[in-house]
Amino acid sequence: MRQDLPKRSSSACARPWRGASACGRETVARKKTGKKKAKAAPPPDSPLLCLSELVGNQRPRRLLAAALMEGRLFPALLLHGPPGIGKFTTARAIAAAINCASPDGADACRQCPSCRKVAAWTHPDIKVLESAADAQAAGRPDFFPDAQAASRSDGRVSTRLLIGQVRRLLHETAFKPFEGGRRVFIIRHLESDPSMGCANALLKPLEEPPSGTSFILTSSRPELLPDTIRSRCQSLAFLPPSRDETAEFLAGRGIAPEEATLRAALSGGRPGAALSLDAEGGLGLRDGILAALDAAAGSGPMDAVTAAEELLPAVDQMPGLMELFALVARDIMVMPYDTQGRLITNQDRLPELKKLAAAIPPRRAARLLQRIEWCERALQRSVNASLMLQTLLLETGGHLPSEPLTTPWLGEEEAGA
Ligand SMILES: [Zn+2]
Repeated sequence: MRQDLPKRSSSACARPWRGASACGRETVARKKTGKKKAKAAPPPDSPLLCLSELVGNQRPRRLLAAALMEGRLFPALLLHGPPGIGKFTTARAIAAAINCASPDGADACRQCPSCRKVAAWTHPDIKVLESAADAQAAGRPDFFPDAQAASRSDGRVSTRLLIGQVRRLLHETAFKPFEGGRRVFIIRHLESDPSMGCANALLKPLEEPPSGTSFILTSSRPELLPDTIRSRCQSLAFLPPSRDETAEFLAGRGIAPEEATLRAALSGGRPGAALSLDAEGGLGLRDGILAALDAAAGSGPMDAVTAAEELLPAVDQMPGLMELFALVARDIMVMPYDTQGRLITNQDRLPELKKLAAAIPPRRAARLLQRIEWCERALQRSVNASLMLQTLLLETGGHLPSEPLTTPWLGEEEAGA
């Protein structure tokens, strides 16, 4: 049975995917590979994953593979879903497969010169548009550097996309592919520019991508993207894989089974987060979070403030602080309803979690989850982290009335978030 990618949400092109070219839009034709070859063993340490190797999300991967094989891949894709579940890895796998000299079905070979360049991020036709902070955190080159990215007063590089970066990308779209394949621009977190100037600058190229050029957008907050962007792209939703799938994937990447299980649990089953997790540091940090919550819930307000100060150094040391906080808060919220503890993520900390669940009612734990999500976004800005953690722990301990999730230091923009 043939499967088509879902129709675009836009009225800009009323025809289904298969007829996209009839709307004047180019679809991506891949190279004919001739007879199917036996799959060669990839380099054991290649950072490039093939479409068929990715964990979970069978449906979007199957649809993308079919579109690639049939030469009807839409030139503007939007892959969306929670962070760390493989959207960016999928985008890279697609970019590699399109340009691979010797693909196996929808999989790149990882052996040819093109694949090796994609693996090393040196392919002249495959580039990533992302904030300077994202590029730095991932250890990728900053493909579209902008002087303003490093001009923040606190010395950090920009966590947002800048219009100067987009202009550099637009300049590059004027050129034909250097290596005769297809130019692929992967655009991460376009929504990180709240002014939407970056999004507006990309409207035209997304509507009519230059010949031989594809755009793949990845986003964990697609609802923040303007409708005009979403309607120009073929959208595909990604969901977190199961923890077992993630543990199996990690074991396949050479991680010991016990550590793979722990990482899968601590990351909530998200393979990207699980791979980048510092398991030892994560466990120490989780102990710190449990101790801080215990102090906040079982003692007076001064203990909550002291606990917040003790956690403060972890804000910079461990970007996953809030993710771990959310896992613990979720366990506390679920605990009263899950007497067997089957839904509990932190299985090895059941006694501490039971004690916390007795002190923090589910309603307050749900509020804590909301506050953590808000803090995660606030931490991407120049927020007073000390005040933020104090508020979080004082609220959790019931020492503060629950205020609306807006505070003066973050400005009015987040009001009602
Ligand atoms: Zn190849």
